[in-house]
Amino acid sequence: MALIVQKFGGTSMGSTERITQVAKRVAKWARAGHQMVVVPSAMSGETNRLLGMAKELAPKKQTNEYLRELDMLASTGEQVSVGLLAIALQAEGVPAVSYAGWQVPVRTSDAYTKARIDSIDDKKVRADLQAGKVVIITGFQGVDEGGNITTLGRGGSDTSAVAIAAALKADEAMIFTDVDGVYTTDPRVVPEARRLTSISFEEMLEMASLGSKVLQIRSVEFAGKYKVPMRVLSSFTPWDIDITEEAQSGTLITFEEDEQMEQAVVSGIAFSRDEAKIAVLGVPDKPGIAFQILGTVAAANIEVDVIIQNISKDGLTDFSFTVNRNDYARTLDLLKEKVMPGLGAAEIVGDTRICKVSIVGIGMRSHVGVASKMFRVLSEEGINIQMISTSEIKTSVVIDEKYMELAVRALHRAFDLDMPVSA
Ligand code: ASP
Ligand code: MG
Repeated sequence: MALIVQKFGGTSMGSTERITQVAKRVAKWARAGHQMVVVPSAMSGETNRLLGMAKELAPKKQTNEYLRELDMLASTGEQVSVGLLAIALQAEGVPAVSYAGWQVPVRTSDAYTKARIDSIDDKKVRADLQAGKVVIITGFQGVDEGGNITTLGRGGSDTSAVAIAAALKADEAMIFTDVDGVYTTDPRVVPEARRLTSISFEEMLEMASLGSKVLQIRSVEFAGKYKVPMRVLSSFTPWDIDITEEAQSGTLITFEEDEQMEQAVVSGIAFSRDEAKIAVLGVPDKPGIAFQILGTVAAANIEVDVIIQNISKDGLTDFSFTVNRNDYARTLDLLKEKVMPGLGAAEIVGDTRICKVSIVGIGMRSHVGVASKMFRVLSEEGINIQMISTSEIKTSVVIDEKYMELAVRALHRAFDLDMPVSA
């Protein structure tokens, strides 16, 4: 008998018919003798619908008062889901009880719309599990010290599920979603992409942060920190699929690297179009310049990614970095207003038609020449590299966005990730 947390996304919860399917699936696991905790998202489209109404009433503001009400509003989608799922389970003859985040409670910081989980009280949940009930807890939400409802940011139910699994020391967090696992790259770009049966937590972290949108990245960070075994699997398989088969399906995120001795050097190719490049040209090359530029950007809560400083000439240097495309205009304004005046004759140029493509693999730690192979493959395709950044287990390049798919396909093939062609 295991303690299992199952998370179901918005598509799985999309209608009463689909909720019945979720209930039947959970009931199957409960009847097999497992202790079950279920964390559903809001029904698909619901969070957008709720936030859309707020926008109709008032343009988006950043005041704390406004953000508090956004959370009050957006959190209701999940409350509907847990109530419906508990009713569906009871209709299946399975005892079930639902809780909103504040009832557990799931305690969070007070950063509305992007709160962080501080602690989860497991008392009530454990008592219910002992009493043989399936416990259903809202994803995405919690409560701050002042008793205000908070939300964890879009896609936050993944993080709720993993955090609850950590608090309960669950045997596994199963994240049911509309894809059947983690792929070597996005199958919409590379039809030959393969599902990985397992991926290390560090690789998953890179893949998630580099734009592979299967999981909310914070859920992966949480899983890593608390060593929660986590599996991504499809909610589209029939609910009555054999339980042993289901338990081994999807992609398992692992912590024991040596389990994967035969692992490929590169496990996946990640890419992201949400990037923009900014260069500050002709800045004086003296201590404090990087801080003046990037410190100002960081202080505005803008995340900076790839950073390059050129060798200086005549005491002047160029400074380039990438930001999220959504932050591009704001970053340019900020630099023009706050940084340029103090920097003298510097000039700013930017480009939003770029993308980032990365190869990821823990095998890169022990193999040389992986990055240079990447550069060779890109050069053979005639693709110019604008920026490069590396870490122990990944190499990223910034290139013109019009070559993104070409680059991803070429790298996928070159690193032997394409599905084996059956004879
Ligand atoms: N319902 C929330 C959202 O759409 C949380 C989630 O689905 O994970 O962002
Ligand atoms: Mg999601």
